[in-house]
Amino acid sequence: MPEHAGSRTCVIALDVGGTSMKGALLDRTMRPLATLRSSTPRRQGHEATVDAITWLLRDLAGAAVGIGVEPVAAGIVVPGIVDEPTQRAVHSVNLGWYDLPLAAVLTDATGLPVRIGHDVRAGGTAESRLGAARGFDDALFVAIGTGISAALLVEGRPLRACGYAGEIGHLTVAPGAEQCACGMRGCLEAVASARAIAAVYAARSGHEVEGAEEVAALVARADPVACRVWERAVEALAEAFAACAAVLAPEVIVVGGGLSQAGGLLIDPLRIALDRRLSCHRRPKLVRAALGEQAGCLGAGLLGWEAADADPAAGRPVELVADPAGGAL
Ligand SMILES: [Zn+2]
Repeated sequence: MPEHAGSRTCVIALDVGGTSMKGALLDRTMRPLATLRSSTPRRQGHEATVDAITWLLRDLAGAAVGIGVEPVAAGIVVPGIVDEPTQRAVHSVNLGWYDLPLAAVLTDATGLPVRIGHDVRAGGTAESRLGAARGFDDALFVAIGTGISAALLVEGRPLRACGYAGEIGHLTVAPGAEQCACGMRGCLEAVASARAIAAVYAARSGHEVEGAEEVAALVARADPVACRVWERAVEALAEAFAACAAVLAPEVIVVGGGLSQAGGLLIDPLRIALDRRLSCHRRPKLVRAALGEQAGCLGAGLLGWEAADADPAAGRPVELVADPAGGAL
């Protein structure tokens, strides 16, 4: 048995976001042994972000040693365009890097085998192996937060297309409507992301809100402006999901990201709006993500174990023997 296949080993999992980084030590069963959070210093340039990632990896490695566990590899997920086969972070508007050989840079800095991945694709893989998409070969995982992005599983395989697949947020659903960050108008992301819902409500009501949670609370109290903004977002999401159903025919659509915290307030009308748009299509199940905001970090952990198993000193496949949904990252 390889040295690091025993019970006293772990991987370091890190989910790097535009504002914060969530790190964890995960054992073979994907159980969190320790967690650590830090802010992302993105305004100081991408070198500062890479340094901060390096320090967080070192802190987590130190924490592992402190509890008597050997860290054997690291998995890191980042936003933007990520080319998994070459292990390069191709581009991130938020983090400011271009064509960065991130895995190699972090391996050099830490001495650990490192595998990088795309945050939403990794979250989709986690939902597929451990969460709401488990048991399905054709699945669409949609993360609705500040932006909207999707991970696609087609006949059991993730569809990557050099990192460009899954940009569902930039499907045009309302031609000529709100300006999107990508430069176009009427993209799904500009109408139905958590940020867009809050911005559109503020523009239409004249009242600033903290975020989409506040709009959801107003919808629950039947505020007429909030209800119209919410319904418009739901219809836009249904339009995009129906296009995906026509082209990709997923068996299940898993809705994750911050907006999925709205639960039935989002999922129930979305299910009805999607159903109305389908005829001869395969009708996907529409469900809420099971792993919540842990999905990205767990996906990073799966990448970490892949890196460990690809290491010449290792060789054992990942064994998922426990449901991590009960754990707390
Ligand atoms: Zn766009």
